[in-house]
This record gives sequence, structure tokens and C-alpha cells, in this order.
Amino acid sequence: MLELRPNCECCDKDLPAASAEARICSFECTFCADCAETVLQGICPNCGGELVARPRRPDGKLAKFPASVQRVRKAQGCASPG
Ligand SMILES: [Zn+2]
Ligand SMILES: [Zn+2]
Repeated sequence: MLELRPNCECCDKDLPAASAEARICSFECTFCADCAETVLQGICPNCGGELVARPRRPDGKLAKFPASVQRVRKAQGCASPG
């Protein structure tokens, strides 16, 4: 089951479970669409894997299977290319 982490690892933007902006890799490193597309160019900076849109969990399932509240943030943020 996906953790559905609550924020972008780069810029700490909130990414609620219902957000269409969340992007994840296969390890669930989690980023916002802005960082994933413009800064990271679709590649996870932690593992080198591809970043894809995170599926949204239906509201009715979130009560029983809640999203993670553990914020994960890269220590130095994400460097822009160049
Ligand atoms: Zn971000
Ligand atoms: Zn990753």
C-alpha cells in the first residue's frame, strides 16, 4: 500500500492524498509536479527511477487506510540543473 506522503521532498509543498500534483518513484520518494518536471526532469534524485503521477486514494478508503503524516524532506533540497 502506498504511504501517500504529505509533502514534496524538494520544496516541502503540501501534497494531500487528493492532490493531482503528487509525483512518486517506485520507492515512494514524493515530489510536487513542479519540482518533478522542471527541476528533476522526471527522474528521482534519490534512486534514479522514473517519477510518475501518484494515484489518488478514494475518499471512502482514506478513513480506513489513512495517508502518511510523516513529512520527508531532502536535507539540501533539490538543486536546479545547471
Ligand atoms: Zn516541490
Ligand atoms: Zn526514488
